[in-house]
Amino acid sequence: MPNAEIVSIGTELLLGDVLDTNSKFFASELARIGIDCFYRSTVGDNKDRIKSTLKVAFDRSDIVITSGGLGPTADDLTTECIAEMFGVPLQLDETILAEIEAMFAERKLTMPETNKKQAMRPKGADILPNENGTAPGIIWLVSSDILAANDISEPTRKRVVMTFPGVPSELIAMWTETARDYIIKNFLTGAIYSVELKHYGIGESALAEKYGHLLYGLSPSVAPYAGQGECRLRVAAKASTMEEARELVMPVVEQIRRDSGTLCYGQDDDNLETVVGRLLVTKGMTLSVAESCTGGLVSKRLTDVSGSSKYTKVNVVTYANEVKQSVLKVSKETLDKYGAVSAECAEEMAVGVRAFGQANIGLSITGIAGPDGGTAEKPIGTIFVGLAHERGCTVKKLELGSRVGRHDIRLRTSSAALNMVRLFLLSE
Ligand code: AMP
Ligand code: MG
Repeated sequence: MPNAEIVSIGTELLLGDVLDTNSKFFASELARIGIDCFYRSTVGDNKDRIKSTLKVAFDRSDIVITSGGLGPTADDLTTECIAEMFGVPLQLDETILAEIEAMFAERKLTMPETNKKQAMRPKGADILPNENGTAPGIIWLVSSDILAANDISEPTRKRVVMTFPGVPSELIAMWTETARDYIIKNFLTGAIYSVELKHYGIGESALAEKYGHLLYGLSPSVAPYAGQGECRLRVAAKASTMEEARELVMPVVEQIRRDSGTLCYGQDDDNLETVVGRLLVTKGMTLSVAESCTGGLVSKRLTDVSGSSKYTKVNVVTYANEVKQSVLKVSKETLDKYGAVSAECAEEMAVGVRAFGQANIGLSITGIAGPDGGTAEKPIGTIFVGLAHERGCTVKKLELGSRVGRHDIRLRTSSAALNMVRLFLLSE
């Protein structure tokens, strides 16, 4: 079974300036197609260190995937490090050069001399096209002679290096359009079919316990993953054809969906906001949101979904009490008696935003995200989510605690609020 290693290149990653989302992307994509990823490495823009990192990666992994360092400037070193490490000369690819020149010409710009560097590739390497930027990558199936000459272990094993620019959108497109299929075709025998079942409202251990009888079987394999208040079960099978693999997976998927009921909100690319959006469209209903402590995060998530204008009426962020009163018609008595973080205020906010937006559903959020503002009575992480509809209003209290921090409290609150809308719509 071939294995892969992800090498992220860029000093900004080591300084903590940029979060390495590219590695996360590759790791989940590799898992999806059934390639084991045993190692991930991060290295700065330094020639010696890049070369030694790559050498180690080649020694222990069949597929080496790099991200970053393909730009035109002096700190973009990936291609030349790969060539130097294997002692193979760099060659100018005239076709690529013409394409880069054309890209500049299209924008009425003259190509700087430094961009020529992006048309260089080690002798014997193929181009990994990049439709969205000037830096193409390479796909290089390194010959066993070269591997042997460089003391790489087991030189007769098939090894490939694939390079990607750091810009996530370019990298994702290059993977999806070319690299993924290359790996499937050249490194996998048979086919993998997998489905991820997304759960909300059940923890990883509870989910593992519920499906203990299915976990860690081989075909299909079922494995739980947790993250950011949600849980996923990945059901995967390998067979000689995709159809056979699918036939192994689907009965288990259907069984889990039945057993999980509303705890399972969707699969694969679904997220709470797309599922809520679909349900609103199906039911022909609209939504308005008033947010306090989430500062617009629910609104952002809802409107991340293309087409959300069909069901989103008006979303407001009301931090100040005066605005809760003037826009949402929260009463002064409620604010004085119970405070802005209270079930009573959440209810009036939900009812108010429903009326203000003339929507079928009004959703409200008020709470204490921390790190300041907690009291003994209302500690950090105390949140109230209100949902107003034609027949009344429900308020749910969340107690998230302070340990997860402000960012996670807001994120988890937004998921809880979206899930509340989802469950309401399912019950309608
Ligand atoms: P580079 O291809 O090295 O010039 O990187 C271009 C830009 O992509 C960098 O300035 C970062 O903002 C971003 N980037 C680089 N590496 C990563 C990574 N591993 N994850 C997410 N973004 C990255
Ligand atoms: Mg860089």
